[in-house]
Amino acid sequence: MTFRNCQCAFTIKEEEKLIELYKSGKTSTDIGKRMGCTGYTVRRILHIYNIILRDSKKAQNVRFNLFNIFFNKFTKNKNDCWEWNCKKTEYGDIYYRKNHYSSHRFSYTLFKGKIPKGLYVLHKCDNPCCVNPDHLFLGTHQDNITDMWEKGRGTTPTYIRR
Ligand SMILES: [Zn+2]
Repeated sequence: MTFRNCQCAFTIKEEEKLIELYKSGKTSTDIGKRMGCTGYTVRRILHIYNIILRDSKKAQNVRFNLFNIFFNKFTKNKNDCWEWNCKKTEYGDIYYRKNHYSSHRFSYTLFKGKIPKGLYVLHKCDNPCCVNPDHLFLGTHQDNITDMWEKGRGTTPTYIRR
């Protein structure tokens, strides 16, 4: 089972259980067997808790479900874009633990890991409100500008927003 296939399968309680098992020294494969998912999924979840919250002690006390926050807020369209519930022409926003993120950058971090400093998260699909990690890639400021002009959005500098 891949991560994306069991994205909605975890409740807050289950995530807490998973973190508890991890703290007790179980390997991710063992935890996966008990939770009915792969070790990969377990590692992704642990990774997200550490990356998003940075402080793993705080992460262990999380009382709400990150996945539910994320997965309830987009709609898949026929191009397999995960369209964040926002205006079609704009990036979406997400507020998480009092911090503000652009939803596509949040998605990138969630699925692929930390965004190196100075890099932009760009869309292969040219759909600014898409948060499908498969449609996102990293690029420089110059890549962003080139990409914009190639896709005919050169007159709309708001898309440069990081
Ligand atoms: Zn897309």
